[in-house]
This record gives sequence, structure tokens and C-alpha cells, in this order.
Amino acid sequence: MKKFTRRDFGRLASGTAVGGLAGAGISLAPATARAQQLRINDAKATPSICPFCAVGCATLIHTVEGRVVNIEGDARSPHSEGTLCPKGAAIFQLHVNPNRPTQVLHRAPGAADWEVWGLERAMARVAELTKKTRDETFMEQLADGTQVNCTTSIFSLGGATLDNEWNHIQQKLMRGLGIVPIENQARI
Ligand code: SF4
Repeated sequence: MKKFTRRDFGRLASGTAVGGLAGAGISLAPATARAQQLRINDAKATPSICPFCAVGCATLIHTVEGRVVNIEGDARSPHSEGTLCPKGAAIFQLHVNPNRPTQVLHRAPGAADWEVWGLERAMARVAELTKKTRDETFMEQLADGTQVNCTTSIFSLGGATLDNEWNHIQQKLMRGLGIVPIENQARI
């Protein structure tokens, strides 16, 4: 008997809505095919990788005149075979999303409202607080004389969309400052 896999479940689930309409005597095949063709009509397909986790599912990014119009799984991938989990299936919204904040928002301690800050001001404040905390808490040695050169008062948490290159620089900077706890949201 054939084993029912997670991938089989995904295929079955994605076919359920269409199956229901087909049961009502409505064929979506021509409309679906037409919509698919229009969406990526004349688009350039660029192979890429989902940025959200270490599985690294392959994607195809469709662009028209440099504008992202669609992102979907790349069926040529040997391990993801064109499938994406719900996070990966929503990558398009990273690029095209009117709700995405594009300004730095700061909420002062005790304040109820957010204030828009310029990037330079925000970066200067982060640097100021990082230096202050490090200066105040840096330990060169433990009580028994073991050299540690670190601060445990600063924690680095990366976002799931940080790519390999950024993470490489991030951990170099953090380790250079003596920061020990370094984590990424993709693993939490
Ligand atoms: S987040 Fe999902 S789609 Fe993206 S790489 Fe991980 S498993 Fe694949």
C-alpha cells in the first residue's frame, strides 16, 4: 500500500477547492490557465531561494521590467520539488505589500504612541545604547580568573529574512563586541 506523505496531503488539500467547484459543474481549468498565463506573461523568471529558513526551498521570481509580479516554487529543485510552506508561499508580500512599514518607529519608555524617527537618528541611538551597555557590563575574567571577554547583557535576535551574507556580518560584529547570545527568529 502506498504511503501517504505530507506532500500528498498538500496536493490533495490544494486540489480540494477546485474539486468542490468541479463537483458543482463549474470548470475552472480555462480561467485558471488564463490567469496563470497573464500573471507571468512576458515575465523574466529568475531562480532564487526562499529566505525564511534553512530548508532553502527553491523559488522562481517573475519580474516584468524589474518589478516583481510573482514568486512561486521551482519544480526543478531536487528537495522541495516546487512546493513552498505557507511562509514561503507568502514571499511575494515581502516585496509587494502596502502594509509594510518603511520608516523607523520609536516608542519611548512609558509612551503609548509611536514616533517616526529618521534612520540616522535611530542608528545613532542603537550605537549609543550598545556602547553604554557594553561599557557597563563587559567582563574580562570570571571570579576564578578564566578569561571570557564578553557581555551577557546584550542579545542579538535576527529576522527570518536576513540572508546568509547579512548573518555572516551580523555574527562577526556581535562576536567582536563580546556578545554571546546570538539567535535568529527562523529557528525559534
Ligand atoms: S520557510 Fe518554508 S518555503 Fe521557505 S525554505 Fe523554509 S520550508 Fe521552504
